[in-house]
Amino acid sequence: MDKNYEDDKIVVDVDALQSMNRKDFELYIYSLRKMAEGNLEQNRSFMTDLYNLRAFQYKAQEEMLANQNLKFALIVLDFAGFKSINEFCGREVGDGLLMTTVEALKQEVKEHVILSHFRADIFAMLTPFEQEQELIDITKRVADRIAEYKMPYKALPAFGICVADYPTMSISLMRDYAIMALATIKGKFYAKYAFFDAKMRKKMLINKLIENDIMKALEDEMLCIYVQPKVDMLDGHIIGGEALVRWKCNDNTMVSPGEFIPVVEKNGLIIDVDIYVWTLVFKFLGRRLAESKRVEPISINISRVHVFDESFKETIVNLSEEYEVPPKYVPLELTESGFTENTDIMYESMEYLRQHGFVISMDDFGTGYSTMTMLKNHPVDEIKIDKGFIDDIDNPKSKSIVRHTVQMLKELELEIIVEGVETKQQRDFLVECGCERAQGFMYYKPVTLEKYEQLLDEGK
Ligand code: C2E
Ligand code: CA
Ligand code: CA
Repeated sequence: MDKNYEDDKIVVDVDALQSMNRKDFELYIYSLRKMAEGNLEQNRSFMTDLYNLRAFQYKAQEEMLANQNLKFALIVLDFAGFKSINEFCGREVGDGLLMTTVEALKQEVKEHVILSHFRADIFAMLTPFEQEQELIDITKRVADRIAEYKMPYKALPAFGICVADYPTMSISLMRDYAIMALATIKGKFYAKYAFFDAKMRKKMLINKLIENDIMKALEDEMLCIYVQPKVDMLDGHIIGGEALVRWKCNDNTMVSPGEFIPVVEKNGLIIDVDIYVWTLVFKFLGRRLAESKRVEPISINISRVHVFDESFKETIVNLSEEYEVPPKYVPLELTESGFTENTDIMYESMEYLRQHGFVISMDDFGTGYSTMTMLKNHPVDEIKIDKGFIDDIDNPKSKSIVRHTVQMLKELELEIIVEGVETKQQRDFLVECGCERAQGFMYYKPVTLEKYEQLLDEGK
């Protein structure tokens, strides 16, 4: 596997990866059959009487295998805002919409067509076709019939379509692909259908490869940290740093976290990655403290996935005890969106950590949806103003926004640090606004731990 996951650098045989070998495929069909055997008729959705996912997988796969001369496509239908319909219009209206959908889909039934009610508001249809336009026409007709159902609230169906690349393509893969296509348009009221295309296919495969490789990277200790120093802009002194994960490949090239963090956030592996990174930080600080060397705080990133996990706060407290590092040396950076997602658990965890002496920093401030009320109520000590805020500082309007934001944050008695300071012009303006702390390429790029130690030891 090539270390670089950019488009033109994939050297693996993607097709081999995605099409199962014959034996695996037979095993797969066998297991589907076993799961559905004997009680196919029971494997129906209670409400709509359509096949549920399990029965559908089996029936649809069989249909495709028995008709290998035909081209098949899987269409998945999902509603944007279905939950709101139940909430605002009542369950009966929601149920009525689902039944209307079933009727709308049933009108498309012809030979080789199989319908399914996967769950809640998600439906699927396997259908043979000749031209892609036929599939688009199906989605239009179904949507038109659904639109006839009168509701006070508009429910918009969206369709994700996956065309089978080959007759033995697995239904579960087709379903994943159709759902991926759907995800690209969900919530966009102007787009009603999307085909799974080559670009999405590539992205999905790259993600799969990253998933596989990152496990190995963790085992082989191929992840490491870089530290980006934070400075006092008045005198340029280092006042701390931020730990940033790097994935070091065998040939010494680095994969940036921007490439793999979003993938591991989706599959939950981020928990292991983060704990690995945190441990390296505590270990490093513990050693410097034990050696009575100069120590400045190094902040760690807390992925918002942890916000849903109640045990993470203890993990952090335990690390601080194990490595004998007082909490004040490890500020915790949580992105602004993490603060909005799961308020109760988040609030509790952050309060707990604060009581133990940790500093809570709101990362990427200005990219999410925080409001003044949120800032007033949330357990936050520091705000990290996002790079985006100062990118076009030439613009007088941007200047005004920055000036007033800084003033407001100061009045709320929050510590401020600005991220992504690259130019002297930005620096001067920020200092003029009363912002003294920064992290940015103008001062330092992220450096290795060794280099960071050297900087501290040199008194930088
Ligand atoms: P972040 O937490 O906002 O980290 C700051 C990112 O901005 C870093 O990118 C840093 O190199 C970059 N940066 C700092 N100053 C400048 C500047 O002046 N100009 C420009 N153009 N960029 C600047 P990096 O290291 O690629 O990290 C990207 C993101 O990956 C981080 O954004 C963070 O969200 C995530 N990440 C990194 N390490 C970890 C980790 O250990 N755990 C978790 N959960 N996320 C991490
Ligand atoms: Ca950060
Ligand atoms: Ca940030």
